[in-house]
Amino acid sequence: MVSRVIPVEDFDLVIFGGTGDLARRKILPGLFRRFLSGQMPKTSRVIGAARSDINTDGYRQMIRDAIAEFGGAEKENTAGIEAFVGQLHYVTVDAKGDGGWAELHDLIRFEVVNAFYFSVAPSLFGDLAERLHTYEIADADSRVVVEKPFGRDLASAQALNETLAEHFKESQVYRIDHYLGKETVQNLMAVRFGNMLFEPLWNNHYVDHIEITVAETVGVGGRGAYYDKSGAMRDMVQNHLMQLLCLIAMEAPSEFESDAVRDEKLKVIRALQPVEPHHIVRGQYDAAGDEPSYREDAGDPRSFTESFIAMRCEIANWRWAGVPFYLRTGKKMKARTSEISVVFKDLGHSIFPGDEKRHRNILSIQLQPNEGMQLQVTIKEPGQGGMRLVDVPLDMTFADALGPDAEGAADAYERLIMDVIRGNQTLFMRGDEVEAAWAWTDPIIEGWQARNDVPKLYDQGSSGPDDAMALMHREDRKWRDIKG
Ligand code: NAD
Repeated sequence: MVSRVIPVEDFDLVIFGGTGDLARRKILPGLFRRFLSGQMPKTSRVIGAARSDINTDGYRQMIRDAIAEFGGAEKENTAGIEAFVGQLHYVTVDAKGDGGWAELHDLIRFEVVNAFYFSVAPSLFGDLAERLHTYEIADADSRVVVEKPFGRDLASAQALNETLAEHFKESQVYRIDHYLGKETVQNLMAVRFGNMLFEPLWNNHYVDHIEITVAETVGVGGRGAYYDKSGAMRDMVQNHLMQLLCLIAMEAPSEFESDAVRDEKLKVIRALQPVEPHHIVRGQYDAAGDEPSYREDAGDPRSFTESFIAMRCEIANWRWAGVPFYLRTGKKMKARTSEISVVFKDLGHSIFPGDEKRHRNILSIQLQPNEGMQLQVTIKEPGQGGMRLVDVPLDMTFADALGPDAEGAADAYERLIMDVIRGNQTLFMRGDEVEAAWAWTDPIIEGWQARNDVPKLYDQGSSGPDDAMALMHREDRKWRDIKG
């Protein structure tokens, strides 16, 4: 089955910070893939806007180089690259100065969709928003895309939201969390709300616990000093893991529409209980041979920032009361993986003589490195005499049956950028969601600071500190193995 690619409306997309790492590594190569798939209209334009003193020719070369460095198989398509860079423009602007803004105004076509991607430090959001209005570049129909970090606590997130709200309505603001752009995350919603099979079981009567693990093999490396100001809780849990938790735990929205979905996600965050200190394990990776420790990478021998966190959370509502949600994320782990597992309860009684093993259905959803979905089911072991049972994974990815999806191998960024152009905010975080997430996170972080909480050391290439294992073991549960 080959699905159709539906081109989006004609647009002009301005990328502030268009010469930066994120733009070169993710945004432009992603747009190039949308261009090749036929989704980006031939008249649409992408305008890089940054401080670097280059011109459009220089920018086109920069993006050719970026595609060569960061693109996939499509980087061999030289004719495609030339056609794509022909749709790129560049203007030198300073967010804090006045040079370049009039030129940007003259370049933009106001009769098409206008979107402004703020791929710059959040401290510049206010300056950009203000100048976009002073120079009459943005209007009530423009869209603005912002990147994480969206604040570092509730107060700073509120300040950022207020800054944006001075110039844009909430319906114009697209806060990107690229985890939500993953095909499998959307498939999770399709599986939950498009089937009769799962939803009746999706509650505390049938679910034993839910686990969300996001493990990376890399350390903080060259970004150590920057990372040390945030840590795993701010960098991963407050945004990515909480967003995944919301999608797993939310009630069915009345329709698949942005505010209906986001209202339900917000209710989950608001129902999250404060977490007891003994339900949290923080860790820092230790040195291993020539490989530096976290503290060496961070450049602070006394750093108390966590490069790993495991925690047990609870959602206080009728559906989930009593079901633990175990979240875990860390750097320098044994494999790179992002996985959500819904572990159903034991049968309670087996009718099969001699079958003493605990059989559990587990729905597991992988987001990276490969996207996929499996349901562990119990069947009879083939060929054996008698009724011997075995647990096998049922592959629910169905890639072979469905063929390549309409957006090809669209990665999360490019999918989300196309949603901005379509004006669909469903997969973007709303301001009140971000604030509610910080309101839950802040007291946890303040507790560590008040107690001078020292993270436990863990071995590089491991699954984190032993205490993280104990967090589940003491409740007679076990983390799933971290496999790439
Ligand atoms: P970067 O330092 O590589 O690039 C910054 C860009 O901003 C450059 O194009 C620079 O010219 C421009 N810039 C800086 N000051 C400016 C000014 N006064 N006026 C106009 N332009 C100015 O940064 P990056 O890694 O591309 O990150 C951009 C934003 O995205 C940051 O907020 C970052 O936290 C966030 N982010 C980055 C990544 C990533 O993978 N790089 C991932 C998630 C979020």
